[in-house]
Amino acid sequence: MIIVIDGLSGSGKSSTAKAVAERLGIQYLDSGALYRAATYLWLAADQHKEKFFEILSSKDIEFEYNDNRFVVYLDGEDVSIEIRKQQISEHVSKVAAMPEVRQFVNKLMRQAVKSGHFIADGRDLGSAVFPDADLKFFMEASIDARAKRRHAELAGEGETVSLDEVKENLKARDSVDKARKVDPLVKPKDAYVIDTTTKSFDEQVMEISSVITERLLTNKNQ
Ligand code: C5P
Repeated sequence: MIIVIDGLSGSGKSSTAKAVAERLGIQYLDSGALYRAATYLWLAADQHKEKFFEILSSKDIEFEYNDNRFVVYLDGEDVSIEIRKQQISEHVSKVAAMPEVRQFVNKLMRQAVKSGHFIADGRDLGSAVFPDADLKFFMEASIDARAKRRHAELAGEGETVSLDEVKENLKARDSVDKARKVDPLVKPKDAYVIDTTTKSFDEQVMEISSVITERLLTNKNQ
């Protein structure tokens, strides 16, 4: 089973998906973390395309969801903290727009969900990666609400970035994600849409969990 949550940057997809995974006892897959790991390698390759593709194809990329943490390993090294840094956020949308990178990440994800029950979050999961997903959600929220949440999250991780910088980064990422030629960020027609601007975290988790329970149980009973 694969349930997907797509949406705007900072709309709360990953924290919500993780909490839903915990409630329902299923696995969580963070597609953004895989694009962030590719970006880590892009910077390690000094933003040199040829060198980057060479490194990308030779690295052993592994990931697991454990104790409420999605952990990414590059050749056995845990890079989960590094890939959340602002420097990675500044380059990730450009790296994610490369068709070769999207193909690479999509393959990793499709392979990973072959066995077990998953909830995954991203930008193009319902539209391009898993068009036949069992259930699709799309999360959105105002830019101010998203920037405040992301700013608080970064501050909690010890990063000193201004609220304006965070806001500009979110806007820039959304516009690159929507404009890219390959698999842009779109709202799938068959997605359940949630605007989280005025919702508390618990409310959004409850709403998604109950839609999953209702719809998947209804399908089973039909
Ligand atoms: O979810 P997160 O903000 O960590 O994702 C980082 C970036 O990865 C996004 O801004 C987007 O550019 C890219 N991404 C993507 N497609 C996905 C998931 C993430 O292009 N499915």
